[in-house]
Amino acid sequence: MSSKRIYLDHSATTPVAEEVIEAMEPYFSEKFGNPSSLHSFGRESRDALEKSRKQIADFIGARPSEIIFTGVGTEADNLAIMGVAFSENAAFGTKNQRNHIITSKIEHPAVRETCKYLEKRGWKITWLDVNSEGLINPRDVENAITKETILVTIMHVNNEIGTIQPIEEIGKICAKHKVYFHTDAVQSYGKISINVKKMNIDLLSASAHKIYGPKGIGFLYVHQDVKIVPITHGGGHETGLRSGTENIPGIVGFAKATELASKNMKSEAERIGKMKDKLVKELLKIPGSRINGSKDQRIYVNINISFEGVEGEALLLRLDEKGIAVSTGSACSSKSLEPSPVLTAIGLKPEQAHGSLRITFGKENREEDIDYIAEQIKNVVGSLRKISPFKKNW
Ligand SMILES: *Cc1c(COP(=O)(O)O)cnc(C)c1O
Repeated sequence: MSSKRIYLDHSATTPVAEEVIEAMEPYFSEKFGNPSSLHSFGRESRDALEKSRKQIADFIGARPSEIIFTGVGTEADNLAIMGVAFSENAAFGTKNQRNHIITSKIEHPAVRETCKYLEKRGWKITWLDVNSEGLINPRDVENAITKETILVTIMHVNNEIGTIQPIEEIGKICAKHKVYFHTDAVQSYGKISINVKKMNIDLLSASAHKIYGPKGIGFLYVHQDVKIVPITHGGGHETGLRSGTENIPGIVGFAKATELASKNMKSEAERIGKMKDKLVKELLKIPGSRINGSKDQRIYVNINISFEGVEGEALLLRLDEKGIAVSTGSACSSKSLEPSPVLTAIGLKPEQAHGSLRITFGKENREEDIDYIAEQIKNVVGSLRKISPFKKNW
C-alpha cells in the first residue's frame, strides 16, 4: 500500500467540509428540539430549518416554500417522478389519463429504475437516445411529447461522463407544451449556477454529500403550481410532501455546504478545470486511449477515459494499491455484469466500456499531484497490457 492517498472519486461522494461539521454540531446536542414542537427547543430547530430552506431556495432562484427536504437525492428523484405520476393530474386508469413520461437512456439509476418501476405497472416511458457525446437533442424531446405526456425527466449533468444537458432549451419546450420538467441536478448543484425560474424547471433534485455536505440529506424543488402527491405518508411534514421528522443537522449542513459552494464555485471551476485539462493531456499520450463524453459540454470535475485492452476493474484495483481512488464503468464493478448503460448509449463497444476509468476532482486535489497520477496510470495501463489476452502493439 502506498503512503500517498489521492481521492479522485468526488462524483461518488465527498468529504464533509470542516465548516459544515461545525455548523451541524450544535444541532446534534444542545439544539436537539423537534421542529414541530411548540416550545423554545422546537422553535430553535424550526428557525434553523427555515433559515436553511431560504438559503437553498435563494441559491437556485426558488421560493422557500418550494424546497422539500428528503432523505437522499435518490428519494428526491423518486418523489418527483412517482409523486407526479400518481397525482390526480395524471388521472391514471381513466379515459383521460396522462401516463406518458419522457426520459433518457443515460439517467442515474434513481431515475432509471423509478421509470422502469412505473413502466412495469402500465405507464408509458420514452427512453431518448443521446448522441456520441452523450447529449440529448431538445428536438427529440419535443417530438416525443404527446397529449398524454405528463413529465419529462432529464438529468442536468451526467454522473459518469460529465455531459451537461441543454436543460434550458428542454425547459422551454416543456413550458410551451405544458408538460412538467424534472431534472436530477445532483451532479451540477453547487458546481454550475442554476436558476429554476429562468430555466423553466418545475422539479429539481439535489443531494448534500456530493458537495461536501453530509450523507443522508437531499431536497426536491417543486414549483408551487405543480400537482404532486407524497410517496411517504405520515405527520404531514414538508408541506405534506415528505412526512417524517426533519434531519435538522443534515439540513443545516446542506445549507452550509451550499453557501460554501456558492462562494467557491467560480474559483474552483478555474482551478480544477486547469488541473483536469493537464491530466487529460497527459493521459491521451497513452496509445489506445480515448475520452468519453463531450469536449465542450462537460462539467469541469470529470474525466472519463477508456484504455483499449485493459479491464477497468483491474486498473482501479492497481491504482488503489498506489493510493489513487477512481471509479470505472466496467462490467465487473456492476452487479449485472453488463457494462455501464451510459457508455453503451454513447456507442462504446463493450471492450471500450470495460476499459473505462472515471476520474472526478474535488477541492482537496492539488496540481502538484497530477504528474504522479498520470505516471501511475501510464505504468498500470502498460503493465496490464503486457498480460492482456488482446495482443496488439500499443
Ligand atoms: C449521487 C447521485 C444521486 C443519488 O444521490 P444520493 O443522495 O446518493 O441518493 C442521484 N443522481 C445523481 C446524478 C447522482 O450522482
